[in-house]
Amino acid sequence: MSKDKYIYITTAIDYVNAQPHLGHALEKVQADVFARYWRGRNQKVWFLTGTDEHGTKNFESARKLGMDPQDFVDQNAVKFKKLVEVYNISNDDFIRTTDQKRHWPAVVKMWQQLMQKGDLFKDTYEGLYCVGCEEFKLPKDLVDGKCPDHNREPELLHEENYFFNLGKYTQIIIEKITSGDLEIIPKSRANEILNILQAGFDRVSFSRPRKKLNWGVPVPNDPDQVMYVWCDALTNYISALGYAENSEKYQNFWQNGHITHFIGKGILRFHAAIWPAMLLAAGLKLPNRLFVHGYITVDGKKMSKSLGNVIDPLALVERYNVDPLRYYLLKEIPATGDGDFSEKRFKEIYNSDLTNGLGNLISRTTNMIASYLAGQIDRAVVDDFNWSRIDEYTENFQYDQALTEIKNIVDQLNKAIDDAKPWHLIKTGSEDDIKKIKNVLSLVAVSVRKIGDYLKPYLPQTAAKIEEIFSATPIVKAEPLFPRLKD
Ligand SMILES: [Zn+2]
Repeated sequence: MSKDKYIYITTAIDYVNAQPHLGHALEKVQADVFARYWRGRNQKVWFLTGTDEHGTKNFESARKLGMDPQDFVDQNAVKFKKLVEVYNISNDDFIRTTDQKRHWPAVVKMWQQLMQKGDLFKDTYEGLYCVGCEEFKLPKDLVDGKCPDHNREPELLHEENYFFNLGKYTQIIIEKITSGDLEIIPKSRANEILNILQAGFDRVSFSRPRKKLNWGVPVPNDPDQVMYVWCDALTNYISALGYAENSEKYQNFWQNGHITHFIGKGILRFHAAIWPAMLLAAGLKLPNRLFVHGYITVDGKKMSKSLGNVIDPLALVERYNVDPLRYYLLKEIPATGDGDFSEKRFKEIYNSDLTNGLGNLISRTTNMIASYLAGQIDRAVVDDFNWSRIDEYTENFQYDQALTEIKNIVDQLNKAIDDAKPWHLIKTGSEDDIKKIKNVLSLVAVSVRKIGDYLKPYLPQTAAKIEEIFSATPIVKAEPLFPRLKD
């Protein structure tokens, strides 16, 4: 990325009908590293996250609880705001799709652009409708012609919908992805979506009759129709910047910015097909990059309500603090692949990397500097670690590699102390031995201070503590940063 660019970073907006899970935390933490990294390089960064609050499931859930849908989504959006706060996410903004002042005008504007371009048209949708599910089914969803969830045959129903002419844009999108104008990370995901696009996309339903879905943005000039998720939810990325009023922020960060959307693999086709097609139809810039992460399993199993293994990411932070969890998510889950979480594995990593590794290095070093050297070190000492490699990994989203590199440096520093044995040298008290002690502890202190700098995007709280500990004069014995966890 070149200098002085406006960098725009977004996560997907979370559907508030379900509780926040660890996957939500993963995506936000991954995006947060990128935002903090580029801010630290004095780039102009804008980082958005938010919530997706319309749709049948929210409406139905509210109705079952006897609640007004707005009250229901208000209540659930709080949990996602809390997640962002607890995981120390440095987002600049939080958009909610029920925000009629900030979000709706942009959605209406987008709709009107597509309409003017002639890419939205009204037609009859004919499909197999399961009354139990209250949704249309595809033949592949049925078992022996019946809805497997309700064991009944769906009815053949007709309804009027607006459709978006996605097929018109698939060829341009294929070219943009192939040329790298629209970069998709990892490459395997680009190939996956190219195959889907090459197979051809038909029209996409962009609205529902109000009598079927009475919870969403009304279609302009057609009060019987409500917008379906696409135009509503995807437009959040520009509504929050002020697309409706063509604000300076929108011009800077969207039209002239470098845009990275962080998304999960399950919503790739919406972001790599429908969204670019909408932007092309509206004559707007495309995102520069989609970063696609995988899923987290728990103890090797998919998280699901029925298995009862959905981990509450908020409770984890209460138990273990935020930085150890960020560390696990970023180092143990490959950034673009699937990964596993278990409390057993988490505790192992915590104790080995953080307690015995970095934490012990800081405790013993500050302890010896305080007691052997009266807190004084030589700050001009020069190390020979390959720090720039860590930046390269971070810029290329290889977060696990960056943290592994830092861990390797920590291990080497611990070994340098073990080899020098300052606790032996101090016994002779000779000028020569004191000099040796000062050399090794200065090297470690200066290097750990640098580790703190490189950890800023990853473990912001730990980085701040390291800076505080090692910029003090005299340096005093530090409290343990990562108290050992019991099994
Ligand atoms: Zn059904």
